[in-house]
Amino acid sequence: MADSAKSKKKVKGRVIVITGDGKGKTTSALGTAFRALGHGHKVCVIQFVKGKGSYGERIMAEQFENLDWFICGKGFLFNKEKLDEDKKVAEEGFEMARKKVESDEYDLIILDEITYLPTYNFLDVERIVDLIKNRPERLSVILTGRGAHDKLIDLADTVSVIEPHKHAFENGVKAQKGVEF
Ligand code: ATP
Ligand code: MG
Repeated sequence: MADSAKSKKKVKGRVIVITGDGKGKTTSALGTAFRALGHGHKVCVIQFVKGKGSYGERIMAEQFENLDWFICGKGFLFNKEKLDEDKKVAEEGFEMARKKVESDEYDLIILDEITYLPTYNFLDVERIVDLIKNRPERLSVILTGRGAHDKLIDLADTVSVIEPHKHAFENGVKAQKGVEF
């Protein structure tokens, strides 16, 4: 194909799911963000599970003009008695994701730890599926988190399941700055 014809070809975004119990889901998604930023693409990260502490990646994110980073609400309680509170947080996070997807401002959106929303019945999986199916054509989306729902797996173009073989944590090694956070 001639160069001019190539450049006219519309970019079609990809749906990637990174799941499984091994370490490397969020960092893999962020590796792709780094790659996209290098090409001048605009990237958005929405984190659905709020972790305590100063994550190196969040600090670094402030240095990239083309990277917008959001943390969803107050965080989940994962307590059966307080399901309504978690549903409210999920709803707020999903609403933000919807706005960002529909804005057509981004080339890549990372929905970090979103798999837990349908797993814990905080949000119907069909709503995530509909949002992704109806996204702007050029937009790529990466979904991370353990135990991805079959409907998310079916929807994706690329799925990686990271399997843990061993993790230092099992030998009593604590989470380390610059490696785990
Ligand atoms: P990372 O952010 O390092 O890519 P992850 O996204 O695959 O990890 P999560 O399930 O989101 O993993 O884990 C949250 C935290 O627990 C991270 O600090 C991660 O490094 C660490 N972690 C991941 N997998 C394991 C494991 N099998 N055992 C212990 N800790 C883990
Ligand atoms: Mg993660």
